[in-house]
Amino acid sequence: MSSLIYSSGWKSVSLIDVYNSVSFTLWFCGCNLKCPFCHNWRLAENDPGVCRWITIDEIVESLSTSLMFIDYLHVTGGEPLLQWASLFKLFQEAGNSLGVKRSLNTNMTLKEPFKRLLERVLVDHVATDLKLPYRELYGLPAETADKLWANYLENLKLLSDYDIPLELRIPVSRLLKPEALDESLNIVGKYLHRLSNLVVIIQPLIGPPVTTPRSVEWCVENCVAGDDDFLSMLNDVLIKHGFTKIVVRKGLA
Ligand code: SF4
Repeated sequence: MSSLIYSSGWKSVSLIDVYNSVSFTLWFCGCNLKCPFCHNWRLAENDPGVCRWITIDEIVESLSTSLMFIDYLHVTGGEPLLQWASLFKLFQEAGNSLGVKRSLNTNMTLKEPFKRLLERVLVDHVATDLKLPYRELYGLPAETADKLWANYLENLKLLSDYDIPLELRIPVSRLLKPEALDESLNIVGKYLHRLSNLVVIIQPLIGPPVTTPRSVEWCVENCVAGDDDFLSMLNDVLIKHGFTKIVVRKGLA
């Protein structure tokens, strides 16, 4: 297994990356999606200006000094599952040697590594987006986006089989309609309701000048979404589908 991770670095103590928890957060470079609103797009595109190879030993050493302050080692990106061999090794060491809980932020569109991660019991918490409408938000050709969405649904079903705690984030752009959320919950609701620990986060997207997204033009047009009435309509749709633990998070996370 590889002992190196292509990463843009870590934050030893973070209060904003896992809901209601403190984490040691590590960013993996590389991503298989091209979300137009992505504000981590430089690391998602493996920009050598922000990414470098880091040894797992180096990370574990730093992690061990944060243990008394944190609830999780949280890994985000980018898409960490693209570097699955290193991720598994890191999670194995973090869990077995340090006894720290492991949290993964993933777009959940990669099937095989996600399945293996769950089978090997290497993750204690997952965070993912429900990106709607996915064809626009994935930033990929429609046919590819359709395939990845199908993978996402299968992974969500798998996650519910394992009952892993889930933080489901709903990015809110001007393209998200309450009817589309309603329709999508008709599909994913049955998986989500099997989870005993689920929090749904409604998260309006933020554009320039606060962020520098991959597509400034797209974000100027679509990221300024979510006045309070609109957010409360989304909230009502979630309540209609039986979800109770809902948080509206305005701001970067
Ligand atoms: S928002 Fe996340 S999934 Fe989308 S491109 Fe950026 S890192 Fe990848």
